[in-house]
Amino acid sequence: MAPDNTDWQLEHEYYTIADPHDLVIRVVEHEDITRTEGNGTITESKACKLHIFKVKRDTLSNSGPYFRKLLTNGNFKEASQDTIDMHEDSVKGLALWFKLLHDKADESTYKAGIDDVWFMLATANKYGFDPGAEVATKWFGKWYEFQTRRQDHSFDYMEHQQLLFPCFTFDHIQGFRAATKYLVYRASGHITEKRPDGFSHDHLHMDPIVLQQLNAAKGRLKTILHRSLYAPINGLLKEARCRCRADVLYAYEQALANTGAWPLEAAFLGHSVDRVLKMLDGFPGPRALTSQTCGASACSFNFAPVVGKAREECRQYFDGLCLDCMNTSKPKFGDANEDYWQHSKQGVPWDAGCRIRHQQPSWYFSFMGRRYKMVEWVDRSHSYSNRGYGQRGAGGGGGGAGQAAAPRSVASGEEEVHGLQELNLQ
Ligand SMILES: [Zn+2]
Ligand SMILES: [Zn+2]
Repeated sequence: MAPDNTDWQLEHEYYTIADPHDLVIRVVEHEDITRTEGNGTITESKACKLHIFKVKRDTLSNSGPYFRKLLTNGNFKEASQDTIDMHEDSVKGLALWFKLLHDKADESTYKAGIDDVWFMLATANKYGFDPGAEVATKWFGKWYEFQTRRQDHSFDYMEHQQLLFPCFTFDHIQGFRAATKYLVYRASGHITEKRPDGFSHDHLHMDPIVLQQLNAAKGRLKTILHRSLYAPINGLLKEARCRCRADVLYAYEQALANTGAWPLEAAFLGHSVDRVLKMLDGFPGPRALTSQTCGASACSFNFAPVVGKAREECRQYFDGLCLDCMNTSKPKFGDANEDYWQHSKQGVPWDAGCRIRHQQPSWYFSFMGRRYKMVEWVDRSHSYSNRGYGQRGAGGGGGGAGQAAAPRSVASGEEEVHGLQELNLQ
């Protein structure tokens, strides 16, 4: 539709994307105006600004199916025109795409906010631009680098929630790893993603499986922290036969309770993993009781190193999700996710063939395949491990998580595809 006469009264903005150019695209930007009428309100889309882009016809027709059809298919009148008119709700996404498609994305484009990047993805979805194309992934890499290097700014919690989908879609493996790790350690409740306010493209979001896996990883951190902190208590209850065991037990639990992090179950209700670990940094604290012991091994352990080791193990455990492992584990026909399972073989690194270095937990939680396949793998690992075959089991081998496999409880049922925390890996 051509702009009518009133459009020429609008504010104009010119963009020389290509010089020389052989095509002009006039975009009428619209905004929603809400007014009261009678007892209700009426929202109307009104033209608010005219954007004029000077571009290259060839570049746009190679950008994706929308412009290819429009500019090369003789059935469209636009195929023979040198000026094309369009109507848009958000022009920022289109302007950014035009620039990067013409290789004209200068530093000013790196200043775009995360919200603008989301609108770019909506534009890509509408016009068939490919965020996985080299020109797009390179641009996003530079945008990300610029944003993380800005001295006055580091991404906060909400921005990390917003970064998940753009990092995923632009295939930015480092950014995705960093955002997933940040959220798992910093979330004080259930991990969710966040989209910009007013973003109406409801079909653009992370696959819920990814968020399930992040929440499972968070649950796993609590489990491994508890296992290490509880080990001395278990020793006192099951092995100690001396009279001082009660005093030692009391002193240890009291020192833990003084940090605010014990019992863990209560501490994790309102605090993130990171916050709980910081509480434990204060262990044993000045008010900790010291008790003389009989010298038996179960009651003569040093509190601080036990807690220090538990804290560090938990801090190091999870290094974020790996886009490459996610990609190779997605359900496909035949044995196509064989690449993913290759990593679980003896002698093969957990990050074999991946663009980033990582250990077993990143591999494990990046699993996007069918849940029963992972259940089978954990089953097999446990049975090998119990029979002492030396095959690398669930959690073994690549360092990081490197413990032997333990009894597990597996909730079965194929309708529940994920929820891998149930697998009780060691
Ligand atoms: Zn004792
Ligand atoms: Zn990987």
